[in-house]
Amino acid sequence: MTDPDTFTTYQTSSGHRGLDLAEPLIFELDSPGRCGVDLPDAPDVPNRLGGLERVAAIGLPGLSEPQVVRHFVRLSRNNFAIDAGLYPLGSCTMKHNPRLNEKMARLPGFADIHPMQPVETVQGALELIDILADWLLTLTGMPTIAMSPAAGAHGELCGLMTIRAALEAQGDAREVVLVPTSAHGTNPATAAICGYRIEQIPADDRGRVDLAALKEKLGPHVAAIMLTNPNTCGLFENQIVEIAEAVHEAGAFFYCDGANFNAIVGKVRPGDLGIDCMHLNLHKTFSTPHGGGGPGSGPVVLAEALAPYAPLPMVVRDADGLDLVEHRAGGAESSFGRLKGFHGQMGMFVRALSFILSHGADGLRQASEDAVLNANYIMAQLQDLFSLPFPGPCMHEVLFDDSFLKDSGVSTLDFAKAMIDEGFHPMTMYFPLVVSGAMLIEPTESESKISLDQFITSMRHLGERAIRGDADFFAGAPYLAPYRRLDETQAARKPVLRWREATKAAEAAE
Ligand SMILES: *Cc1c(COP(=O)(O)O)cnc(C)c1O
Repeated sequence: MTDPDTFTTYQTSSGHRGLDLAEPLIFELDSPGRCGVDLPDAPDVPNRLGGLERVAAIGLPGLSEPQVVRHFVRLSRNNFAIDAGLYPLGSCTMKHNPRLNEKMARLPGFADIHPMQPVETVQGALELIDILADWLLTLTGMPTIAMSPAAGAHGELCGLMTIRAALEAQGDAREVVLVPTSAHGTNPATAAICGYRIEQIPADDRGRVDLAALKEKLGPHVAAIMLTNPNTCGLFENQIVEIAEAVHEAGAFFYCDGANFNAIVGKVRPGDLGIDCMHLNLHKTFSTPHGGGGPGSGPVVLAEALAPYAPLPMVVRDADGLDLVEHRAGGAESSFGRLKGFHGQMGMFVRALSFILSHGADGLRQASEDAVLNANYIMAQLQDLFSLPFPGPCMHEVLFDDSFLKDSGVSTLDFAKAMIDEGFHPMTMYFPLVVSGAMLIEPTESESKISLDQFITSMRHLGERAIRGDADFFAGAPYLAPYRRLDETQAARKPVLRWREATKAAEAAE
């Protein structure tokens, strides 16, 4: 553990970047007139650009290949990644991305095709989408799937647009979507984007949906409920069948947020629980790489009643081979339309199917069991020191709150910063909102017992230090990270606030 005062930035004698990790912008590394490649003089060809030719430099940095490589490698070392260490970011399922999947995604037959190619020339790709769809339907126990959504939140949008189209087709204009208080922020955001009013359902003291409160809220104005299972407290909603029955009785649809499907693959089929619609985060459950902005993939499984309204395109198999529904006359009159260019995230499909086939059905079940076992191991090893708001056992993630830090002067944020020095990515903080100062830890199945024990040792060490009362130490952490703390004070936020005020003023003036 480093003392704050010993952390210094090293300056080299020649003035070039030494070991200080503040990497300059690539434009600052540029020297005027340099070019990374040696090109022959341009041949004298007649200019056919008709006055559109460039007349001034476009300002791209000129760097040699080694300069570019070093710049990006140095930048990458400023970041934490699943390839660098345990990344227990609850609900995000930062599991190892097997390199086999990368190899498969780079096969030229998948990587080099173009979505505008004639369908006869991409039969292999369509077959891969079809096989993956079939696995996802089998694992979820649902009849139909829309493959094109590009992420979980996009899948939610797909699901609610499908539900809205189905209700409109019945002439049933319902205006409310019910969302539990523990929901991921994307749930209410999606419902709002679709024009619904959001009503919250409280959690009960077991961290699950309060069934009585839900029943009270249900009525002819409710279009859907959006429920996450296992929920974001890491708990299985064990009244889910009763919830589904109550929702259907009220004529509403049951949307399930399937971001936590990795906890139950091969154990429970959501289709057997009465859900109508659920997105799958291939980038979480089936380990396609994520973080840093994507790409993800969020296929949506749908019940029979919603299937006609699903977005296009759909891969279909007939006597002539595989085709896309949008190509076939009369194939899709009631679909709500397109959600995304082309057919979805092909590279993610290849990786997800590679993960599925290399595990097999038994391996997928084992992965879920190991993910749940690992989370329960952490819970068992920490629950005497940390505060557990809801009694276990948990599913694939364990939720602590900040009551063990009471009177210590250490906040969940401070604690998370100190974890960085211990070599771990912080857990998910302050989410879900149902507890104070949430710490949501998801180890995933890819961690070994040795790495879990290292994590537990660090967490206990920090927990004991916090309880002992060492608030100054925590307030200064992290000490070893390339960047210390961002300025999170009100003063630092002023430009954002000014921008918001200016936007509001502009809107008011319109
Ligand atoms: C990750 C997550 C989402 C959103 O998925 P993205 O792929 O990030 O858009 C929604 N709900 C829950 C519970 C999640 O964990």
